Amino acid sequence: MQTNFTAEQLTDPHVAASEKILRKCVHCGFCTATCPTYVTLGNELDSPRGRIYLIKDMLENGRAADAKVVTHIDRCLSCLACVTTCPSGVDYMHLVDHARAHIEKTYKRPFMNRFTRAILAAVLPYPSRFRLALKLAKIGRPLQGLMRAPALKPFAAMLALAPKHIPAPSPFSLPAVHAAKAEKRGRVAILTGCAQPVLDPAINEAAIRLLTRLGIEVVAPAGEVCCGSLVHHMGREEQALASARANVDAWMREIEKGGLDAIIITASGCGTTIKDYGHMLRLDPAYSEKAAGVAALAKDITEFLASLDLPANVPKGLTVTYHSACSMQHGQKITMAPKQLLKAAGFTVREPAEGHLCCGSAGTYNIMQPDISAALKVRKVKNIEATKPDVIATGNIGCITQIATGTAIPILHTIELLDWAYGGDIPQKLRGFPLA
Ligand code: SF4
Ligand code: SF4
Repeated sequence: MQTNFTAEQLTDPHVAASEKILRKCVHCGFCTATCPTYVTLGNELDSPRGRIYLIKDMLENGRAADAKVVTHIDRCLSCLACVTTCPSGVDYMHLVDHARAHIEKTYKRPFMNRFTRAILAAVLPYPSRFRLALKLAKIGRPLQGLMRAPALKPFAAMLALAPKHIPAPSPFSLPAVHAAKAEKRGRVAILTGCAQPVLDPAINEAAIRLLTRLGIEVVAPAGEVCCGSLVHHMGREEQALASARANVDAWMREIEKGGLDAIIITASGCGTTIKDYGHMLRLDPAYSEKAAGVAALAKDITEFLASLDLPANVPKGLTVTYHSACSMQHGQKITMAPKQLLKAAGFTVREPAEGHLCCGSAGTYNIMQPDISAALKVRKVKNIEATKPDVIATGNIGCITQIATGTAIPILHTIELLDWAYGGDIPQKLRGFPLA
C-alpha cells in the first residue's frame, strides 16, 4: 500500500514503525474472511482491511482520533486471526496497538465510557481490588436486569461474568520457591498473574504441582505484577509499560540469583504480551536489552512441557474438546503442543469447527462490547457442544470464564488435565461429574 507520510512525521519512531506495516498491506482482503467482527457484523470497517484504512488515514493526516475510528477500533478483539491469515505478513498487532495509544492520547470518550474504562484499569490488574469487586458483584447481581441503558451494559456484563463462587486465596499465589520433588532438572519462574489467581487459583496450583513432580524448581518471584495486557489493549501505554518494567525487574533478580530456564505463563493472553516485552520496551535504553532477554525466556506452560518428553499414558476414556485461545494460536502460534500433550496423557482430543474464531472474551472486550461478545460466545459454544465432549480444555482464563457462562460442560485449563493425568488429584471442577 502506498503511504504519504512526511519526513517530519517519520521522525516519530511509532509512526515510522506503523508506516512500514501499512506498506506491506496489498488490500487483498483475505483477512476479512477470518475476522470475527467482520463475520458477525458484515461491515468492511469492522474488518482488518477496513481498520487498516482508518488507521492509515488518521496517522497520515496527523489527525486526532474521531468517533468513527474509535467505534471500529474498539470493536476489534485483537484476536490476531488476521495476522495468521494475511499472506503479506502485515503486523496488524503492532499497528492496532499504536492506533489504540493514539486514540487514548487524542480522543475524549463520553463520560460513562471513560468512567467504565478507568474502573477496569484500576481494578482488574490488582488481585485484592479484583477480589473485592467480585464480592460486590455477587451482592449486585440482582440489579443486572435493570442495567439496560447502553452506557450501563458493561456493568451488566460484569455482573453476568462474575462467578457465583469465588475461590479462597491460594498459598500458591504468594511469592515462594517450590522445590523440585524429583531429581532437579531445571528452574523456572511462574507468572502468578492478576485476575487468574482470583478467578481460578487451581490453574497455577496444577502447574506448580506437575512441574515440581517432574523435577523443576518453580519460583513465584516477589515483585511480579499484572503482565500489562489488559491496559495495553485499552491504549494505556504508560500503565502497561510500568507493569512490563516491574516484571522485567522481578525476573532479572531471579535470573541473577539462580538462573532461569524459562518464565512460565499459564494464561495465553499474558504470554502474548510478555513475549512482546522486547518490542514494547525497545525505545527505553534502560530496559530494551533486559526486556528482550525476558521475552525470549517466556514460555506457555504447554510449550515448556512439550520439551520435557512426558511419557505416553494409557487411554483415559475421556473426550476433551480443545478450544485454542486466539492468543495461543494467533498470538503465540502455539497450535500443536496442547493437543499433543493431551493425547499423550490419554485423552481423546476433538476440535470444534471454526476453531480460528474468537470466543468473544478478549480481555475486557466481553465487558466493553457485550453484544458482539455474546454473539461470538453463542457461536463458539454451539461449535464446541457439537463435538460432544466430556470436558472442554483451553489455555486462557478469559476463555474459561467466557465459555463457562454459555455451557454446562466443565471447562478446565489444559494443565489441570495434564496434572491429573500425571499423578495429581482429579480437578475440583470434575468432582461429581459423571465422567466416562
Ligand atoms: S484482530 Fe481479530 S477482530 Fe481485530 S481486525 Fe484482526 S481478525 Fe478482526
Ligand atoms: S490479508 Fe493482509 S495484505 Fe491482505 S488486506 Fe488483509 S492485512 Fe492487507
